[in-house]
Amino acid sequence: MTCCAGYEFTSGGDTTFEIDSSRIKYGSGSLREVGADARDLGMKRVALVTDPGIVRRPFFETVRASLFAAGCDVEIFAGARVEPTDRSFAEAIAFANDGHFDGFVSVGGGSAIDTAKAANLYSTYPADFEAYVNAPMGRAVPVPGPLRPHIACPTTSGTGSEVTGIAIFDYLEHHAKTGIASKRLRPTLGIIDPDVTPSLPATVVACSGFDVLSHALESYTARPYTQRERPATPGARPASQGANPFSDMACLEAMRILGANIERAVNDPSDLAARERMMYAATLAGIGFGNAGVHVPHAMSYAVAGLVREYRAPDYPAGAPIVPHGMAVIVNAPAVFRYTAASDPVRHLHAAEALGADVRGAAPYEVGEALALHIESLMRATHMPSGIGAVGFECGDISALRDGAAAQRRLLTNAPLPVAGPQLEELFAAALRYW
Ligand SMILES: [Zn+2]
Repeated sequence: MTCCAGYEFTSGGDTTFEIDSSRIKYGSGSLREVGADARDLGMKRVALVTDPGIVRRPFFETVRASLFAAGCDVEIFAGARVEPTDRSFAEAIAFANDGHFDGFVSVGGGSAIDTAKAANLYSTYPADFEAYVNAPMGRAVPVPGPLRPHIACPTTSGTGSEVTGIAIFDYLEHHAKTGIASKRLRPTLGIIDPDVTPSLPATVVACSGFDVLSHALESYTARPYTQRERPATPGARPASQGANPFSDMACLEAMRILGANIERAVNDPSDLAARERMMYAATLAGIGFGNAGVHVPHAMSYAVAGLVREYRAPDYPAGAPIVPHGMAVIVNAPAVFRYTAASDPVRHLHAAEALGADVRGAAPYEVGEALALHIESLMRATHMPSGIGAVGFECGDISALRDGAAAQRRLLTNAPLPVAGPQLEELFAAALRYW
């Protein structure tokens, strides 16, 4: 056998892919079942992790009441930071160490879910903080064994963190984002209830929607799993395996849903059907990218978010400057896909079609431009900034941005073309302004 679902095997390349996901419960009203699920997983003393904005929302009370009704002893940690840092992770870890919990429930965006993952990890297998952090900022020590049960309840239609084994944070002393990546970090159960979405502000829907779009598009265009070196042992196969037939299926469907719904979901809060569809697309893309991995737009985003000076996105907590994750990703995407399209024009054409672009009659050399222009049109229709210049960066910042992105080795090796310092400089320059 020389290929699998159109993927050509290569000499020394992997011939096997794995699909891993959290158990998922999806549907209106499903948050009312969290207490029964917690008991089913053996939780009696529960750490309920959230952020200060979520703790006042009615759906948070739904979760708390459900846990209480199921007889769980609950302690609330509402200190998860939107765009978490090593410092905010440390506070959650201290809370988990003091509380002697036998399980975690997280309610919020990716930030709250990632904070619970870190608290679960370090309170179960204590270590100095750098131990489990991705190289080169940390030592990437493998997680020694299973963690305690964790039920993740996402409240934005974005990160897909409820189905992935990744926790992202801002490493303050390095002025860069990095993360912890291990299959062991994957929540035990994701409960996705689209009833949470009507209260989301427009910018939050747009940012999380573009994060989903880029998860799906990056995974679909990632280096094929057959071109990654075959691992020495099965356990060494990374979660970011590269594009593979199963992730392709989930990501294409996520892109179709996104292309058809993102404008309505952002611009009309009363369009509940569009917002529900976005939540479902986020889940699909989460499963896809959790097993394929993202690449260059995300690598660049960590530098953009980490080096922000003044920009404060509307609808996000007042105070510190912030380029929200999905915005930090999408401002790079048109430049990146203009560049990567040459690696596989057919795949980029299928992606553009799925997102709703009219690519009839496009020649292979025109595909990158068509895909990039379509992403730009979705950004304009949803009031996203026109590139990194619109969130405060200029030509003089490019070398610092390049260095921040070059540190994201795990992501850059998942790109379909070689991307190192010189390419990153060109990509950031091309991302300064789109329209
Ligand atoms: Zn993302």
